[in-house]
Amino acid sequence: MAAKHDINKVGVESSDFPILCETCLGPNPYVRMTKQEFGNECKICNRPFTVFRWNPGAGGRYKKTEICNTCAKIKGVCQTCLLDLEYGLPVQVRDAALGRKAQAPTSDINKQYYIQNLEAQMADSPDGTTFDSEVANKAGREMLKGLARSDPYYKRNRPHICSFFVKGECKRGGECPFRHEIPKEGELSKQNMVDRYYGKNDPVAKKMLRESAESKGMKAPEDKSITTLLFLGLPQTTESEVRSALVAYCPFVKPIDLRSITIVDASHCAFINFKQRSLAERSAEALSAQGGIEVGGKKAKVLWGKARPQKGKQPSTSNEASGSEVGIVTKS
Ligand SMILES: [Zn+2]
Ligand SMILES: [Zn+2]
Ligand SMILES: [Zn+2]
Repeated sequence: MAAKHDINKVGVESSDFPILCETCLGPNPYVRMTKQEFGNECKICNRPFTVFRWNPGAGGRYKKTEICNTCAKIKGVCQTCLLDLEYGLPVQVRDAALGRKAQAPTSDINKQYYIQNLEAQMADSPDGTTFDSEVANKAGREMLKGLARSDPYYKRNRPHICSFFVKGECKRGGECPFRHEIPKEGELSKQNMVDRYYGKNDPVAKKMLRESAESKGMKAPEDKSITTLLFLGLPQTTESEVRSALVAYCPFVKPIDLRSITIVDASHCAFINFKQRSLAERSAEALSAQGGIEVGGKKAKVLWGKARPQKGKQPSTSNEASGSEVGIVTKS
């Protein structure tokens, strides 16, 4: 039997049919595709792969696969739009809701090694794909279902916007194959494919996660000096137990990113003080997506901390013993 790690074998990626989401495929079930073996370099692993091209339907632009079959299987994404196949959502949203780690190899050598390892794992797994899926996170899955579209979104297959039209210079008028429209805000259209694949720095995902957290009462406080989250309804616990739970739910958090964890036994709560506001926000969004955090077998509620009352101002009237006190105790 040939070794799975044989570099020559691994370099060959030939497939008969691409892994595509319903939207990219288009409404016609008999869509004709052209297939070009080793037609391009995969945008993720840089290996040559089989490129498919097709027209997804009237008024659509020709689409093609951008990443190889293996890379698509590894993340469970479409080979063309790189969105999650189950929910049609960005990887960053899916991974935040399911508490999954975004593994992004840094160097090219690491990347090759990473892909080969995963290919070997896939060959060993009984269904050939799902080694990356973990125990279902029920709250996270519900959240994803809520965000997912129920129907394919064919508008996404429209031609790109005409860059000449935007500059007021297109002379082709009705003959122009591109869309004559003024693009909406730039931020969301500027997406890096590699980041989207690995689920990081994805502006679309950030927006979705932020809006979802806000809709559940987890709006980040205006005061940017607030970097504290509050876990409420904890059982008897320890600092290290809280820290491990947090890192398990938010794998992007490193223990060194935390300024302090203060447990208030009497109120069954803990204050998690982050060094960076951005990380506190990301954690708040991920925890909100996952419906709270389980510590010591009990699901705790997550809230944003409040600003510490300024000296000289009216003291807070909340009662410490009741557990409603969210003034922040910082040890730095
Ligand atoms: Zn690839
Ligand atoms: Zn797609
Ligand atoms: Zn034009």
